[in-house]
Amino acid sequence: MKTIFSGIQPSGTLTLGNYLGAMKHFVDLQADNQCYFCIVDEHAITVPQDRLALRKNIKSLAALYIASGIDPEKSVLFIQSEVPAHTQLGWMLQTVSYIGELERMTQFKDKSDGKEAVSAGLLTYPPLMASDILLYNTEMVPVGEDQKQHLELTRDLAHRFNQKFNDIFTIPEISIPKVGARIMSLQEPTKKMSKSDENQKATIFMLDTDKQIEKKIKSAVTDSDGVVTFDRENKPGISNLLTIYASCTGESINQLVTKYEGKGYGEFKQDVANAVIATLHPIKERYDALIESHELDDLLDEGADKANFVATKMLRKAKKAMGLGRVK
Ligand code: ATP
Ligand code: MG
Repeated sequence: MKTIFSGIQPSGTLTLGNYLGAMKHFVDLQADNQCYFCIVDEHAITVPQDRLALRKNIKSLAALYIASGIDPEKSVLFIQSEVPAHTQLGWMLQTVSYIGELERMTQFKDKSDGKEAVSAGLLTYPPLMASDILLYNTEMVPVGEDQKQHLELTRDLAHRFNQKFNDIFTIPEISIPKVGARIMSLQEPTKKMSKSDENQKATIFMLDTDKQIEKKIKSAVTDSDGVVTFDRENKPGISNLLTIYASCTGESINQLVTKYEGKGYGEFKQDVANAVIATLHPIKERYDALIESHELDDLLDEGADKANFVATKMLRKAKKAMGLGRVK
């Protein structure tokens, strides 16, 4: 049994990338491990958010976690901003982070690229993420590939803190799925699929209708080869669709390539669409039932209580290690 932590930002409706790269794996992990699943709303505000949309997305994300199979009896499901220890330890970890290492993060570079005004929070996001993870004695963090660099920094910060002050933090392992760790945009398959992408055609959202899913996959950018093979470099569009297909069905990419030998893109795309619909449709049905119920608020209250209990203890240790406050 391991302690596991992972977070998703309520920065928009979840994408197929979030599901295949992260959420899908959470469900398998919760049976044998102590899991903390967090709605990281304080990360979402590192870029501008509409107040009402953010509130809606927070609830929607909670419902999606449960609709995807997270059992709040087994796992702790909670909202980051309802556990103040996250920002408190986040601040302390900022003081052990170097500006240079934060500026090197590719997410910071990507999200600040071409923007006139960039919030300081976008730069200091990784120490807050480190705090999220380190507060719970986390041993393993299941994430998509895009978070690898932040996780490595988390490990560095934990190690640095332990050496400088006191050995209190567990150094977490990173767990990245073998298939589906990096689902790409359907319109620019060299770029990752993101909730915050402005091009709606590029992204499959978990709450898209079956028709929308079909339409988006059919208009996904491919190439003029007409051969279904996996080659990320030269055939990024088809490779992405193969990855999506394989992660939705559990078939291997090699099996799929053999299956589509001599067949055209039209048939292939239709089957990819069907596989995605078969994956998301049942989740959507459960979501619709949940989003209207009051049960969700009670579950989130309970989650926040459980998380606060554990996080406050670790925060106390960290304050003591740094010499903050008084000894009582
Ligand atoms: P944003 O654009 O607001 O950053 P996002 O789609 O990147 O949104 P996050 O909330 O940052 O989503 O990430 C949630 C989880 O989903 C993380 O574990 C991340 O690694 C994973 N993830 C995000 N995008 C993809 C993707 N395209 N393929 C696989 N996993 C992904
Ligand atoms: Mg992201």
